[in-house]
Amino acid sequence: MSATIPITDSHCHLTSRQLAGEAEALVARAVEAGVSRLVTIGCDLEDSPRCADFAAAHKAVFAAVGVHPCSVTDVTEGDWLEQIRALAARPKVVAIGEIGLDYYHPAPDGWTEDAYRERQKAFFAAQLELAADLGLNVVVHQRDRKPDGRCWPDIVEMVAPFAGKLRAVFHCFTHPWVAAAPLVEQGHVISFTGIVTYPSAGVMQDCARDAAPGSFMVETDAPYLAPVPHRGKRCEPAFTRHTAECIAGLRGVPLEQIAADTETTAEGFFGFGP
Ligand SMILES: [Zn+2]
Repeated sequence: MSATIPITDSHCHLTSRQLAGEAEALVARAVEAGVSRLVTIGCDLEDSPRCADFAAAHKAVFAAVGVHPCSVTDVTEGDWLEQIRALAARPKVVAIGEIGLDYYHPAPDGWTEDAYRERQKAFFAAQLELAADLGLNVVVHQRDRKPDGRCWPDIVEMVAPFAGKLRAVFHCFTHPWVAAAPLVEQGHVISFTGIVTYPSAGVMQDCARDAAPGSFMVETDAPYLAPVPHRGKRCEPAFTRHTAECIAGLRGVPLEQIAADTETTAEGFFGFGP
């Protein structure tokens, strides 16, 4: 993509251990590839401050801070929510995330599945409340073992009371557009990862084709989920355009339009400021 067509990588993990020592080079390569902004998403109480620090030091980078559902059993600090609240006040922190529910990974040792899910729900609920209180939007993770599992209905139920109080992005959206449409009507958005470029991703490709303009963003989720033609390799934010190109092809519109629409959506959602 020419650097004149800016596009935002709305979700990546620049502070991931898998990218250690390389984040600087990855941001430079992304900017060169026309990625105007990168939102690096925190996963726990150690990672979230690193995201805020990294964003403060890099013009193109913004941060989200939060406790990921897969990290909830690692948190022992009684003041964890106050720590997230303090981080949210740091410059260039634009959302609370990554928060949500994960019914895919098994419960850690010493936890029953039920207790694990209850703890995830408690953390999700507390961070939704915090975001609403702070006037910030949320980056939501949801993953299940099967497409019709309880995870998505539970997410929808927990987010419903916050309509009008905050907006959520349902990241790495894997459901049909009909599942997203009522939430989009309430102001929420979805985002597509590189999975949409996989020939086997029929549901997601249909969703990317059907989604209303302005209802979605694009993301790499780097270091995970590299799009074709880099599938199977470590993902990096410079690959954002491959996902956008694929969606443009599915919708039969120019890449420029997908770039412009997703930029507008990302700016409205995260409020990057001038
Ligand atoms: Zn993520």
